[in-house]
Formats: sequence, C-alpha cells, structure tokens
Amino acid sequence: MSTQAESTFDCPECDVTAPSASVQYDALGYAVCPVCSHTTAPSRAGD
Ligand SMILES: [Zn+2]
Repeated sequence: MSTQAESTFDCPECDVTAPSASVQYDALGYAVCPVCSHTTAPSRAGD
C-alpha cells in the first residue's frame, strides 16, 4: 500500500474521512464536516 501525502479531514463525530480540499472552513478557519457539519480545530501535530 502506498502512503498518501495528501492531508485528510477526519471527523471525530461521525468518523468520516474526506480530502481536506473538499472540506469547507468556517470564519475561524475550522474545518466543517461535510456529513454532520461538526466544526473541528485544525489538525494537531502528534495526534
Ligand atoms: Zn462529521
């Protein structure tokens, strides 16, 4: 399996994974889940 360098958005609420490019962001720059509209802080290093 190849490792993708492309960043992805992982929703902690509904566990969906989507390419970051397809995720919208709110006024605070938080990613908005395309499935459940849950807002998530930008990905944290070391998570
Ligand atoms: Zn979600």
